Amino acid sequence: MRHVLVVGAGLGGLRTVEALRSNGYDGRISLVGAEEHLPYDRPPLSKQLLAGTWDADRVTLRAADAYDDLGVRTYLDTRATAWQPGRVELDDGATLHADAVVVATGVVARRLPDQPAGVHTLRTLDDSLALRAALDTASSLAIVGAGFVGAEVAANARERGIDVTVLEALSVPFARALGEELGGLCARLLVESGARLRTGVGIEGFDDSGALLLADGDRIAADVTLVGIGGEPRLDWLSDSGIDVTRGLVCDARGRVEGVDGLWAVGDVAAWWDDVLDRPARREHWTNTVEQAAVVGAAIAGGEPPAASVPYFWSDQFGLKVQLFGRPEPATRHVPLHGDGLDGGPVKGTVVGLLRDDTLVAVAGFGAARRVARYRALVGAGAGIGEVEDMAASLA
Ligand SMILES: Cc1cc2nc3c(=O)[nH]c(=O)nc-3n(C[C@H](O)[C@H](O)[C@H](O)COP(=O)(O)OP(=O)(O)OC[C@H]3O[C@@H](n4cnc5c(N)ncnc54)[C@H](O)[C@@H]3O)c2cc1C
Repeated sequence: MRHVLVVGAGLGGLRTVEALRSNGYDGRISLVGAEEHLPYDRPPLSKQLLAGTWDADRVTLRAADAYDDLGVRTYLDTRATAWQPGRVELDDGATLHADAVVVATGVVARRLPDQPAGVHTLRTLDDSLALRAALDTASSLAIVGAGFVGAEVAANARERGIDVTVLEALSVPFARALGEELGGLCARLLVESGARLRTGVGIEGFDDSGALLLADGDRIAADVTLVGIGGEPRLDWLSDSGIDVTRGLVCDARGRVEGVDGLWAVGDVAAWWDDVLDRPARREHWTNTVEQAAVVGAAIAGGEPPAASVPYFWSDQFGLKVQLFGRPEPATRHVPLHGDGLDGGPVKGTVVGLLRDDTLVAVAGFGAARRVARYRALVGAGAGIGEVEDMAASLA
């Protein structure tokens, strides 16, 4: 192995480079990134950076001189435009040849049809700075989508005293991913902050002033509008490659793109084989990205990849941490473990187990970080309901 090319200079790209070096790879590494910025961290974009408690420098993952120390050549403000076995074309006309190519191109924020230029999305550092500047002088905010990014921005805006309306297509936020009851807790966080939440809402489009037109005939005009309806894997540059990219880049359980030698993928763009779900799964989560990069870096360098761990996601909103360990998809029922948010009590302190029949598949917590963490091993082991109840009793 003489040259590893990493496409996508974000979290997954940088962590892959670090893992290659920490596993002893001493060949050439190139890191190609479409943005002009060095790799930076995205979670603060909807949290500390948006709130103004951090400045832009603080989200940078590593200072410029660290790339020299890592022995990596960076190509910033440069987009990969095509891939063929062993080579990647760049938008400046150059072609890079490599023995292994790692795709870490993330997702692009999904937009509504005919979305006006002044309507915000939030995926990049520049998006966050633009939204922050807009909120600085706003008195009203409309958010399309009550996902985690929408909820975090709503929380931030409520802290600023801004009037917030959140429009959600489903009956409750996260109804499909977490079920109605847990989604209901997310909805309560929004409503208890003073935000207006409208669910089951269809968006028809925008009028000439940029106001939102709803399917029920209503019109929502706000000083600032944010569309937070998820992301699409950034794989346009592989469209002529012959690789099926309709579900993200489908990989085996070690990040090798299926059926393609020398091509790997990590992070939001990658759908790795999941033994537990018995299908490929794509997760847009920070921890997942870091762990996949560690596996791929080790595998390419000939090191020992770390063992798979339990999927984890967190979100900071309305003064508390929402956390999820595990895979909620196969859950058939849930059990309250701590707190009484599901009975109408405070959301803070509520911990809920998600089970497939009597087997624990995931645990969700709301402002209960220490307790939730105690269930991580049980989720990983697929513990039965008896063990879960014993744990709940011991932590009561
Ligand atoms: C606002 C926000 C808040 C978040 N908060 C949380 C959180 O609280 N908890 C959590 O678990 N996760 C959170 N996440 C998700 C987490 O940040 C992502 O899972 C993580 O950034 C994924 O890393 P990545 O390397 O796959 O993609 P990215 O970090 O998106 O990096 C991909 C990079 O590739 C570049 N690129 C794309 N196409 C090309 C191309 N053709 N050529 C070259 N470069 C290209 C992009 O410009 C980008 O810089 C949040 C994400 C956002 C946007």
